[in-house]
Amino acid sequence: MHTASSYPSTLRVQRDLKTGRYQNIGGVKPPEPTQILKWGLRLGPKEQPAVERSRVPAGAAPVVAPDLARITAPLADAMQFTWVGHATWLIQVGGLNILTDPIWSKYCSPVPWPMLRRRTPPGIPFGELPRIDLVLLSHSHYDHCDVPTLRRLGVEPFYVVPAGLTQFVERVNAGRTHEAEWGETLAVAGAKLTALPALHFSARTGKDRNQTLWCGWLLEVAGKRIYFAGDTGMAPFFGELGAWLRATGGVDVALLPIGAYQPRWVMTPVHCTAADAVEIHQLIGARQSLAMHWGAFVLTEEPLREPPVLLADTLAARGVPPEQFRTLAVGETVAVR
Ligand SMILES: [Zn+2]
Ligand SMILES: [Zn+2]
Repeated sequence: MHTASSYPSTLRVQRDLKTGRYQNIGGVKPPEPTQILKWGLRLGPKEQPAVERSRVPAGAAPVVAPDLARITAPLADAMQFTWVGHATWLIQVGGLNILTDPIWSKYCSPVPWPMLRRRTPPGIPFGELPRIDLVLLSHSHYDHCDVPTLRRLGVEPFYVVPAGLTQFVERVNAGRTHEAEWGETLAVAGAKLTALPALHFSARTGKDRNQTLWCGWLLEVAGKRIYFAGDTGMAPFFGELGAWLRATGGVDVALLPIGAYQPRWVMTPVHCTAADAVEIHQLIGARQSLAMHWGAFVLTEEPLREPPVLLADTLAARGVPPEQFRTLAVGETVAVR
């Protein structure tokens, strides 16, 4: 039966008929390797910064010591989020300990490239993590799918990954891995997980581009709904996705990327700006959003601490109370009821 809340067919996966590779909704192409090379050689157009440089604090992102007492004994009636840095969260809800896109490595690159070094330490030392029940991966990029960390996490947790990534994860640690395409729902470790579209791409080598899927996740545990967006550009489909999320119960907490957006002539199809993130927050009707994908690694041209400034500017311009979309310090824990 078709109901108002059934998952829209327009938000399903499409693959290239000839190559079998996954595609973005609307056929939006990620930057070509030649474009990335041109950017690397600084041959592209010069862009205005999104925020006047004098308004952006210098240095690394704020870091606080983790509150290990709270992490060890999270409140039973709240969702607890600790920002480890970048897209890595420890989510504690309904008795489960869940990690998103875990990376504890010093570099987010196949070999230690100085430019891709970690600028802030992981918010929780790896050895202080509680038992991990579930790991969500959004896609195969090195800053989200970190092999040394997956190896350390080992076979104990369940792994939930986008379509096509099971083999890779199981080669790393032979864990218990489940995969889904956009719109498909898994029941794992007492949680319900639905893979949702993102505007992005996947690649680990020069040859495997878009052979595995990229996604966000809707995590439903203990009557709570948490949306982890993964890596995504801004796209028209967020209107439809937002309508579906609202019709099926809304979003209690959204974890949304705000960084790695400059230059726009390269990044528009893969990373949204902090201003776009506010629009996504509004389109999906999130009760509370928390910012991610900034602060730990410098992947792009904007200064490390620019995204939170642009976020704050946009929230003010749109009349959204700043506490509705928070940026945390690395290591900070928040509870949401
Ligand atoms: Zn990515
Ligand atoms: Zn990323």
